[in-house]
Amino acid sequence: MERLWSPWRSTYIQSFASSDGDDRCVFCEALEDTDDDQRFLVKRHDQCYAILNLYPYNSGHLLIVSNRHVPTLHELDDTIYSEMMLMIRRWSHVIQQAMHPHGFNIGLNIGRTAGAGIDMHIHWHIVPRWRGDVNFMPVIGDTKVISEDMRETMIKFRETYEKLYS
Ligand SMILES: [Zn+2]
Repeated sequence: MERLWSPWRSTYIQSFASSDGDDRCVFCEALEDTDDDQRFLVKRHDQCYAILNLYPYNSGHLLIVSNRHVPTLHELDDTIYSEMMLMIRRWSHVIQQAMHPHGFNIGLNIGRTAGAGIDMHIHWHIVPRWRGDVNFMPVIGDTKVISEDMRETMIKFRETYEKLYS
């Protein structure tokens, strides 16, 4: 379980992210949508946003998504990149306060070969970890989980962010 965002876990996302002749991007769609709650979009920042992963590897699995649709880090300008780094730090703090995990995996995949499910739109993963969670993560990792738990998590994350950073 050393790599949580690994290719063998992203088959479902790939199935809708890159179907033939369909170039819509779920991250661009979420950005353009007005119903953040429906999308589990937790918060919008100037250059990026935080959204719960609908296919979580663990409870609280958060994505930091660039507002720009680009596939690689070097295509992000410095302003966006810097804000994403800042938000990774802030949101890992938020998750720490809200969920008290024992650790985190934080990272990104660049390119389909490296395991990116949505490889044209760069996004960082923040995955909280608890001792013993390895045992159930493979079960939920390939399953779309939209539950009241996710709604509660979204609300709790927003409240904690406001408390810490507003
Ligand atoms: Zn996009």
